[in-house]
Amino acid sequence: MATDTRVAGIPARSAVLSTTDPLTPIWHPSPNFGARRDGRKPSLIVLHYTAMDSASAALERLCDPGPEVSAHYLIGSEGTLWQLVREADRAWHAGAGEWHGQTDINSRSIGIELDNRGDHPFAEPQMQRLEQLLRELMQRWTIAPDGVIGHSDMAPGRKADPGPRFDWQRLEQQGLAAPRGTAIQTDIDFRTLAQSRGYSATVDDETLLKTTRLRYRPWANGPLHPDDFKALGTTRNPT
Ligand SMILES: [Zn+2]
Repeated sequence: MATDTRVAGIPARSAVLSTTDPLTPIWHPSPNFGARRDGRKPSLIVLHYTAMDSASAALERLCDPGPEVSAHYLIGSEGTLWQLVREADRAWHAGAGEWHGQTDINSRSIGIELDNRGDHPFAEPQMQRLEQLLRELMQRWTIAPDGVIGHSDMAPGRKADPGPRFDWQRLEQQGLAAPRGTAIQTDIDFRTLAQSRGYSATVDDETLLKTTRLRYRPWANGPLHPDDFKALGTTRNPT
């Protein structure tokens, strides 16, 4: 039964999402989780898109014991925030891969799924909710901006989400992801440079370039370009 929750004298909540109120996710528990191995705490946040038609379809899949997948959070296109797994627990979102030489990313991370098929822009209320959630998580678990990564970053050649339409620069400008480089380093080979940024998984040169471009130069084509070095380079001009 629908209940009219309006109370005289209290203005209706603005349709614009608040960025200061603490988040109150909708608890929608998934059975797909375990304990973080070796007592690890989250030091990374991994962003995904669902590649599904709706948030409700994604919720169903992320809570289905069959496929054995989950995430800590799901954000709908209208900014609705669901929590499926407690932050202290190990959700099953990352799979095989590595970052900065570290494996078992599930034990080291919090996974956030964004309701998006992968072939269209991310909605504004969804991005705002994500930014608010990132601020809270980064503060709660003392996670630095360079700990916020895409699924594609840690699973090169295997995963492409959150994909070329995700606005990383928007997060970078707010200190919610590591800033891209502004100076071209010429005294280093591309693989060593990429490894210094975290891309440590063993992949061929083409896959490595494709993976870094997904994050930094999503519509770039062709061979290795000075701008590929620049994106991964230092953020200060050498003096
Ligand atoms: Zn993913």
